[in-house]
Amino acid sequence: MKKIKIYGARQNNLKNLSLEIPKNKITVFTGVSGSGKSSLVFETIGAEAQRQINETQNSFVRNRLSRFGVPDVDKIDHLNVPVIINQKRLGGNARSTVGTATDIYASLRLLFARIGKPFVGYSNVFSFNNPQGMCTTCNGLGYVSSVDTNRLFDKSKSLNEGAIQFPTFQPGGYRWLRYVNSGYFDNDKKLEDFTEEEWKLLLHSEEHKPKSPTMDWGKTMKYLGVLPRIKRDFLKKNSKEEKLRKKELQRIISTDICPDCKGKRLNDKVLSCKIKGKDIADCTSLSIDELLSFIQSISSETYETIITELTKKLQNLITIGLQYLTLDRVTTTLSGGESQRIKMVKHLGNSLEDLLYIFDEPSIGLHPKDLDNISKIIRQIKAKGNTVLIVEHDPDLIKLADHVVDLGPLSGVNGGEIVYEGDFQDLKKSKGKTGQYFSLPRQINKNPRAVNKTIKITNANLHNLKNVSVEIPTNILTVVTGVAGSGKSTLISKVLPKQHPETKIIDQSQIRGSSKSNLLTYLGVSDKIRRLFAKTNHVSIKLFSSNSVGGCENCKGLGVEKIDLAFMDDIETPCEVCNGTGFKPEVLKYTYQGKNITEVLGLTTLEAKSFFENEDFADQFNLFIDLGLDYLTLGQRLNGFSGGERQRLKLTKELGYENNLIVLDEPSTGLHPSDTKKLMALLYRLVNQKNTIIVIEHNLDVISQADWIIDIGEGAGKHGGKVIFEGPVEKLLDHEKSATAEYLREYMG
Ligand code: ADP
Ligand code: ADP
Ligand code: ZN
Ligand code: ZN
Repeated sequence: MKKIKIYGARQNNLKNLSLEIPKNKITVFTGVSGSGKSSLVFETIGAEAQRQINETQNSFVRNRLSRFGVPDVDKIDHLNVPVIINQKRLGGNARSTVGTATDIYASLRLLFARIGKPFVGYSNVFSFNNPQGMCTTCNGLGYVSSVDTNRLFDKSKSLNEGAIQFPTFQPGGYRWLRYVNSGYFDNDKKLEDFTEEEWKLLLHSEEHKPKSPTMDWGKTMKYLGVLPRIKRDFLKKNSKEEKLRKKELQRIISTDICPDCKGKRLNDKVLSCKIKGKDIADCTSLSIDELLSFIQSISSETYETIITELTKKLQNLITIGLQYLTLDRVTTTLSGGESQRIKMVKHLGNSLEDLLYIFDEPSIGLHPKDLDNISKIIRQIKAKGNTVLIVEHDPDLIKLADHVVDLGPLSGVNGGEIVYEGDFQDLKKSKGKTGQYFSLPRQINKNPRAVNKTIKITNANLHNLKNVSVEIPTNILTVVTGVAGSGKSTLISKVLPKQHPETKIIDQSQIRGSSKSNLLTYLGVSDKIRRLFAKTNHVSIKLFSSNSVGGCENCKGLGVEKIDLAFMDDIETPCEVCNGTGFKPEVLKYTYQGKNITEVLGLTTLEAKSFFENEDFADQFNLFIDLGLDYLTLGQRLNGFSGGERQRLKLTKELGYENNLIVLDEPSTGLHPSDTKKLMALLYRLVNQKNTIIVIEHNLDVISQADWIIDIGEGAGKHGGKVIFEGPVEKLLDHEKSATAEYLREYMG
């Protein structure tokens, strides 16, 4: 049997590992967070395969990529061409939709060009990205942006007081000068006292030379109303200033559906072309399963190939559980899990063999029922003659393995070894944490907390919700379940906070200012640690701050340099001057308890707990241990955290508060089952502190421990959007229609 052979892998925490991975099989890599799975699978195997491919590139690309880093490994033999499918969201912009990303829209355009009536041109005119096809009012976007004057102006202020709330229009700014020196206005008059005439002049005036200005306007400078000026300078596509002012623009711009095409993105001529009464935009607004029925209803006699192809592509999306999506859905609004599945579906369609597919936790966002579909697809990919590697915590996907590699035993320096390799059956006998998990009996919460008070969601109709009213018990742990696309996030993350604004949503989104902050700054203890260094060495505290005088001048204290690559993500490399520490060399001479500042920043939270045991902040590190984050180092920058890690980090801030209404979306993401147990203990600690916890989850280890379940279903999209069960988890076991119940019964064995 052919094998990929790895010799001497030492990337990050890996302990000189040598192993073999069978080809044309599915290998699942397991182990607690920080045990070294990514270091082995992505940073060693994936990176080396990528590097070998890059060797074949021309020298320009190669030179730039060579700094990408060569993995720390002696040798890897018999590698295949890699395809890495991670959860990084599908990039793109407002012009990228599910239809364009999957190429299904291209097939649909072809169909319309062939059999649509009347005939309007070649298939490319059906593209909203083509000037001949797009609606000219919105340039094919489907929406128009306009400036919200209520947000742009503070009418209780005068021009001199900064009434125009936008950079460069503020007092002293160069755009501001043109208004106050136009000679048109009393610059101390509040805008709310402006006459209609003045208001019009300020907002809408066309370009002209003012008659009696109070400064020299030179030859070229002209007066222009604030709104057309913002439009011209900021709202043009790809204007430099648009990018620069993105945040500020978002604040003042409101978007509305395009009044001409009504969101269809295309011009009238293109929309006049129909098949069985539907224009192409009507088709893309159908859910995938509805569209499939429509396509099948078209007689296939003459144009069989396109119809067969469309049918196949649509069926692939259904197989993968995305039947509820519409082709016109903008890809940037898809969840990470949905993005990942769209990437998968693209590969199902190809006929390439002998590739090395690498998946990063494909279970994220998926109900056990959806996982069945994913498993099918992964098996199909293998059956085509490919090798599949999966990094995964989900027991149902681990079962898919022909071969398991369990890393551990713990994380960081205490991990990086192979605890078990072999088939799934014998994993149970392994003494490692993964093996232990599979050998333990399953339990269900038989003593749920009593329901006293509730909060109500009433008549929710957003997206696919069907006039949902539901009561959520307070001061207990409620888990909201249902297949992907059934409406869980819509109900809990969108409607609930609207109706109950006090809700705290703890999500996986980036933490503000995260490129500059690390774990210590987030915890608010970095000053305390700097003070310890300053006091011990009798020097200024500022020296120990990398974004102050102590920082490396080359990288501004960041420790990394960014390399800008056209068409690719930026690549970061460690700064060559400071070796990635971010500090000036002289700062590193000062130590505290034998360690310099970068060595302290390199401590894991677990190590930090004993290193700082006499300090009042040592206790803070306990939480990280409870959350399965004990492998994180103090200096780790927040923007490098995974979504799951970010969410758990945010959770640490909630402890110690009472009576909060807290929502968590899939907090078990990225957690090994042994850490999920710790997470549950922490959630119950929050409940005991009189908080109300609502968790959206697919993980049966979490679902089975809930006090109360709200199950949304039965299916996804238009087949979902209803509450099909609410009650204690044990009662759910008896439910006949719920997919969650079915899988919970299977789980309980
Ligand atoms: P897993 O994928 O099992 O969660 P990782 O491979 O990401 O684990 O991490 C293994 C260990 O290597 C951890 O201690 C982690 O902190 C460390 N590590 C990961 N990336 C880096 C890096 N870029 N530099 C230094 N250490 C790293
Ligand atoms: P879940 O959280 O159960 O996976 P969601 O609440 O995300 O499901 O989605 C429920 C339905 O609403 C799906 O049909 C989904 O496609 C649709 N939906 C979600 N977000 C949007 C959006 N921003 N615009 C349009 N439809 C959406
Ligand atoms: Zn339009
Ligand atoms: Zn530097």
